[in-house]
Amino acid sequence: MKTYDILVLGGGPGGYVAAIKAAQLGAKVALVEKEVVGGICLNHGCIPTKTFLKSAKTFKTLQHSEDYGITKSGEVNFDWTKIVARKDGVVKQLTGGVAFLLKKNGVDVYNGYGEVLSPTQVKVGNETLEAKNLVLATGASAIVPPIPGVKEAYEKGTVVTSRELLNVKTAPKTLVIVGGGVIGVEFATVFNSFGSKVVIVEKMDGILPTMDDDVRTAYTKRLKADGIEVLTGAEVKSVDGKKLTYNLNGKDVTIDSDLILMAVGTRANSQGFEKLNLTMDRANVVTNEYLQTNVPNVYAIGDLNGKFMLAHVASHEGIIAVEHALKKGHTKMRYDRIPSCIYGSPEIAAIGLTEKEAKEKGLDYKVSKVPLAAVGKALADGEKEGFVKLIVDKKYLEVIGAHIYAYNATELISEYATAMELEGTAYEIAHAIHPHPTLSELTMEAALGAIDKPIHI
Ligand code: NAD
Repeated sequence: MKTYDILVLGGGPGGYVAAIKAAQLGAKVALVEKEVVGGICLNHGCIPTKTFLKSAKTFKTLQHSEDYGITKSGEVNFDWTKIVARKDGVVKQLTGGVAFLLKKNGVDVYNGYGEVLSPTQVKVGNETLEAKNLVLATGASAIVPPIPGVKEAYEKGTVVTSRELLNVKTAPKTLVIVGGGVIGVEFATVFNSFGSKVVIVEKMDGILPTMDDDVRTAYTKRLKADGIEVLTGAEVKSVDGKKLTYNLNGKDVTIDSDLILMAVGTRANSQGFEKLNLTMDRANVVTNEYLQTNVPNVYAIGDLNGKFMLAHVASHEGIIAVEHALKKGHTKMRYDRIPSCIYGSPEIAAIGLTEKEAKEKGLDYKVSKVPLAAVGKALADGEKEGFVKLIVDKKYLEVIGAHIYAYNATELISEYATAMELEGTAYEIAHAIHPHPTLSELTMEAALGAIDKPIHI
């Protein structure tokens, strides 16, 4: 029987990072994956949608090329097959890269379904592997909700999850999206850009419920201005093939659509390790701040523990888990400084507390808000829409939250993430010299605003 220091179950951004890190720390490592390494993120999520968004943005920019002084003599068009082929090429390159990295670091990769027999044994096919520590990183799957008719329509293909939508043969002319969360708004942006008529049906009183209210308001306005119908407070009653019935303000309304996307959240994949009797919170495995489960040599990282269903959280948890298992570090996972990003046009990025949360916690805080128009680079780029909203505590001006609504917001947020990690204040950010002309001047201007006043407003 082959014996390992660490056996990782699942090769997504949590699992493969954990495996590589453990190998770098000198451990003998096995990784078991039933599909292609890379998980949802590389194969069916983050990366494929970003390639679609790049095509969508390029298409829109070309359509509006005259805004930049570029004339065109004919119609700008798109070829959906080529857009999907480009996406597949990028995915293949990245997953191939991950497979190469695993091999280079000496990780033994087993392709197959791993069944956990005990805290130290995993069966893959006919082989049983032995390990001192297990890292469970089995991810999550899109929820197909128990709404009448949805299961049948999903089997027929008129209802899809994001996974199937990434591989449709043609862009749908009409698309109804159930759920105005992260996946819902990203796909709304993609298909709206390619001319689909998009309707978002959200049951809460607004989209993106976890985001700061100023961002939610601005983004909802943007989606509507782009021609996306945003229905909030709408309860989906049933689906029948391509027809969806929702109730809004007490009235049932039925709409027809080429495709219906279910984007109502994901549920942890908690099968394959039932024999361990792990402590669970619904489908999620309960862990401590080192990602340890109630069985001390078994760790659960990423979507499986349901804390933050984000690839970068999974990767970070993977590093913390293996460092702890190999007694090479005692860093605890911090969940109060997790950046989250939404890729649309513009983008959204956030970290720390929203203003509502700061208020609810009774904190003495200060808000500084700077519009994009305050920096020259944004105007040169033809990107005027958006703002940075910085929330600091009033006494020391320590950063407690930041919310960016701007093109490239997802790149800017890391500055605030670093500042928060260092328990930094508006003073340090304002005193750090930011190059001109860059969008990053916005983060500095917001810090100046938190101290006193921004220069460029
Ligand atoms: P989500 O939890 O972000 O949003 C689901 C939305 O659906 C919520 O607004 C909810 O109120 C709504 N909803 C639930 N049931 C409904 C119903 N019956 N009718 C109408 N609306 C309903 O989930 P998601 O968008 O499916 O994303 C899944 C996971 O993937 C999330 O954890 C997300 O963070 C992650 N993800 C992240 C990124 C990113 O970081 N950019 C991108 C895609 C997905």
